[in-house]
Amino acid sequence: MELVVATRNAGKLKEIRRLLEPQGIKILGLDRFPDAPEVVEDGTTFAVNAAKKAETIARFTNRPCLADDSGLTVAALNGRPGVHSARYAGVDAVDADNNRKLIAELAEIPEGQRQASFCCVMALCLPGDKTRLFEGRIEGVIQQHPRGNDGFGYDPLFRLPEFDCTMAELSLDTKNDISHRGQALRQVVTFLSLN
Ligand code: IMP
Repeated sequence: MELVVATRNAGKLKEIRRLLEPQGIKILGLDRFPDAPEVVEDGTTFAVNAAKKAETIARFTNRPCLADDSGLTVAALNGRPGVHSARYAGVDAVDADNNRKLIAELAEIPEGQRQASFCCVMALCLPGDKTRLFEGRIEGVIQQHPRGNDGFGYDPLFRLPEFDCTMAELSLDTKNDISHRGQALRQVVTFLSLN
């Protein structure tokens, strides 16, 4: 089958392709639909934003569509940046800006109070069916200095205590094996194989 993936985030797209294409699912990126509308992510939850993206792009392309809304929740910041993770340091922020802001905001927070989690909601919109949601979550700790060159976003600051490394030090396949996105995607695969 073919799935349009409603994201312009190259890091997400790479992870999604790597996990779904070996399952026989052909992924069409939004680059194939240059006139696709920009979806305003104004929901207060990952689920609402993911559903909005999947439904808007499914309607526009008239094809089955998968959307990912994800982000970082930091306990010491009362859950921020959360749904605003991509724009944490401003509307035009790039990953390095967001990471710098996170380091600064947590500068006074001691080791032991730096827990965080990544959350991902995948919304699947198939013709004639209601939108289906699949969720994944992974716990970690925000470290004060970036480490690692793989992944994207906050990966270089997100330490996995049980692996003793950051998410950016994992290979793509190992990240997919454990990550919030990998967990949600495996549920999508199971759903598609049963329906
Ligand atoms: P979205 O496009 O609103 O879903 O933005 C998601 C943002 O959350 C990304 O731009 C990253 O900043 C962050 N994020 C989500 N998933 C990951 C991940 O796997 N690693 C690092 N950062 C992530």
